[in-house]
Amino acid sequence: MSPGLSPFVDALRLPAYVCSNCGFWQRHFAEPPSCPMCLDARHVVPQQGWRFLDLHAAQRAFPCHWEELEPGAWRFWNDPVEGIGPSSYLLRTPVGNVVFEGASVFSEVALDKIADLGGVAVLSASHPHSYGALWQVQDRFDPELALAAGDFGWSAALQVTWPFDECLEPLPGIELHRTAGHFDGHTVLFDRERRLLLCGDALKFELSPHDRRQATTISAHKAFVRATPLTPGELRRYRDVFAPLDFRQTWTPFEQARNSGRAEALALIDGQLAARPHPRQVPLDELRAAP
Ligand SMILES: [Zn+2]
Ligand SMILES: [Zn+2]
Repeated sequence: MSPGLSPFVDALRLPAYVCSNCGFWQRHFAEPPSCPMCLDARHVVPQQGWRFLDLHAAQRAFPCHWEELEPGAWRFWNDPVEGIGPSSYLLRTPVGNVVFEGASVFSEVALDKIADLGGVAVLSASHPHSYGALWQVQDRFDPELALAAGDFGWSAALQVTWPFDECLEPLPGIELHRTAGHFDGHTVLFDRERRLLLCGDALKFELSPHDRRQATTISAHKAFVRATPLTPGELRRYRDVFAPLDFRQTWTPFEQARNSGRAEALALIDGQLAARPHPRQVPLDELRAAP
């Protein structure tokens, strides 16, 4: 990790604790008194009180798995898991790997697998709900950490080395675009070669029970757990970001939809802008049948 300013750098060596209700990690000198992510309006407080796990307890409780979803595009996740349980994605490129989003916790074997795949040149995430254990990847591989400046306040467990405003191309063919909306710094990753959008929580899918790579519905929210819609201005901003990006697959931190791309995302947004924004799941067949 880059050195930071002594004597403050030791704060980034404090032990980390994860909140079992949401999966947000904090570095603290003792078990934290509360979790800022759960107290935020986009989440909910735990109804039975706080429970925090240290690294080893989290690794024991939440086994880590991985799979190659498309050539050179890997997913790491935990199952079983508590909290939000996001997937982490590793995309191989000819000049280095990018990891986008963090799994709730990485096992040592999973980190060794990432090392076998070539390590990590650039690390990023869509927004704080899917930071997961990014700090483990940063500690192990010392990559550039590129995050939109709008969410800097949530990155206390990390060392941001490459803050950006609206767009960044940290590796050739890998584009980061700030959508704002769900979070002020909410960012999507567009992989030009794979025509793949890692959309964070900008979009949400329901999947076919027969094929987990096939989405049946699509939706967009300000806060999913509260079924709060986006504003018209936020939707227009999403549209402005998506329209120039020719993506054919859309992966959230939870779903990897092979059958939904730019056309479906724009149709969802246009439908909401034509009437009133809503948080409902819209069947993809209905969108495609619309004139
Ligand atoms: Zn929490
Ligand atoms: Zn979120």
